Amino acid sequence: DLNSSNGDNSSLFKMPTIKYNKLFINGDFVDSVSGSTFETIDPRTGDVIARISEGAKEDIEIAVKAAREAFDSGPWPRMSGVERAKIMMKFAELIDENIEELATLDAIDAGKVYFINKAFEIPSAANTLRYYAGAADKIHGEVLKSSGQFHAYTLMEPIGVVGHIIPWNAPTMVFFTKVSPSLAAGCTMVLKPAEQTPLSALFYAHLAKLAGIPNGVLNVVPGFGPTAGAAISSHMDIDVVSFTGSVEVGREIMQAAAKSNLKHVSLELGGKSPLIIFDDADIDKAVELALLGILANKGEICVACSRVFVQEGIYDQVEKKLVEKAKAWVIGDPFDPKTQQGPQADRNQFEKIISYIEHGKREGATLLTGGRRVGSQGYYIEPTIFSNVKEDMLIAQDEIFGPVMALMKFKTIEEAIKSANNTRYGLAAGIVTKNLDIANTVSRSIRAGIIWINSYLAVGSDIPFGGYKMSGFGRDQGLEALHKYLQVKSIVTPIYNSPW
Ligand code: NAD
Repeated sequence: DLNSSNGDNSSLFKMPTIKYNKLFINGDFVDSVSGSTFETIDPRTGDVIARISEGAKEDIEIAVKAAREAFDSGPWPRMSGVERAKIMMKFAELIDENIEELATLDAIDAGKVYFINKAFEIPSAANTLRYYAGAADKIHGEVLKSSGQFHAYTLMEPIGVVGHIIPWNAPTMVFFTKVSPSLAAGCTMVLKPAEQTPLSALFYAHLAKLAGIPNGVLNVVPGFGPTAGAAISSHMDIDVVSFTGSVEVGREIMQAAAKSNLKHVSLELGGKSPLIIFDDADIDKAVELALLGILANKGEICVACSRVFVQEGIYDQVEKKLVEKAKAWVIGDPFDPKTQQGPQADRNQFEKIISYIEHGKREGATLLTGGRRVGSQGYYIEPTIFSNVKEDMLIAQDEIFGPVMALMKFKTIEEAIKSANNTRYGLAAGIVTKNLDIANTVSRSIRAGIIWINSYLAVGSDIPFGGYKMSGFGRDQGLEALHKYLQVKSIVTPIYNSPW
């Protein structure tokens, strides 16, 4: 019974006291200048969890001043990498110590399954801090070939003040994929969490202070996109804006950057990622990967495999198993240990997904399973699979960002490559096959930033993550990400008394 735990939260956990609900600027929690607040909502019920200070342009102004001062004259960019690393390690330890409370905040604010978040996402966020702490003392330039009387070398300098604008689907993971490399680089920053999910970000600000991150280095200003977000992207004194979210907003951010101070921009946007299952695949494994790829975090994952292509020889078997397993998927309260899928993050997202499902039916795709709301309160949606999907249908082209799979059949490798690339996005792709030639050929032919062979969603601090095409540019994770927050300075000097 899908409804068994939905709505009945009373036995599962106690609502935590929300300790941090104000803006975090220059090391203190403060009210917004206007005094305005906004509600953050529990997607399990639609109830208000807390009111949060609402940052706007004037608050961003104050936060950027603090970050600028911390950059221009504060200790953070000037201390050794080893010293920065020690503080970042301490920050990571504090996350581990507070993991229950943090997982609770993401569960009530974003609908994330408590036990999964606690076991994977939050520990890996702490490890992201550790990974970049390890890099903090290994940032260096090069000595260049001298020519004539001159000798040259490069410095890798922190870029300055960073603006981070992040989404609601993975409030912890994205916070740390942005903050960790920029801290290691020696930057200072202003981060705006999504208006739907400010709670854990404010808690992390508190932990950053406890760890010893100096005032002004990490400022967290919750607020809305068109006000607080736009104030970041159009600010004259922010050196780079690093964004994760939708294509539409990514476009606005680039325009604002161009119209203001030409700040650098990196964009991690949406996807419509393909998973391609070949005839020789282990069918059970393939089905497991396909469901994980679209249902993990209720499909609110930018790399979700929302298009699944199956070769004709095994298509019928795969379809049958996918439907069986999707029907058995456990939807329910994020605190229930049995739960595999919690509620969508908010009402807007819920309504958007339902309207795509309706559109898919009208377009003529076959609804194999799912498609409906679960229960009568909160934003729960059944795992949904469509077959007979044509590549030009909206459900095969648009990012739905929900538990909705478009299933398609193919005959040849060439056809699979062509179909997989038939999208404006290029974030990720998966290939399931035992044939090395197929795996090699297809992985080199798909235009996407990460390719998983016989795996899906396998990410790590050391693996660069980001898009091709309209999925954006710039990479989070890996040493690659450090370069967004550094710039190269060349220093040239004559070699006195040189015999040359
Ligand atoms: P969004 O792009 O509107 O919001 C992401 C962040 O940008 C939030 O912090 C928001 O406040 C901010 N923002 C909004 N307008 C802004 C503006 N004009 N200037 C500066 N910042 C602004 O995303 P959404 O509306 O919450 O979700 C819409 C869609 O985005 C989703 O359905 C999904 O397709 C996509 N999305 C992708 C990811 C990802 O990881 N790539 C994450 C979340 C959402």
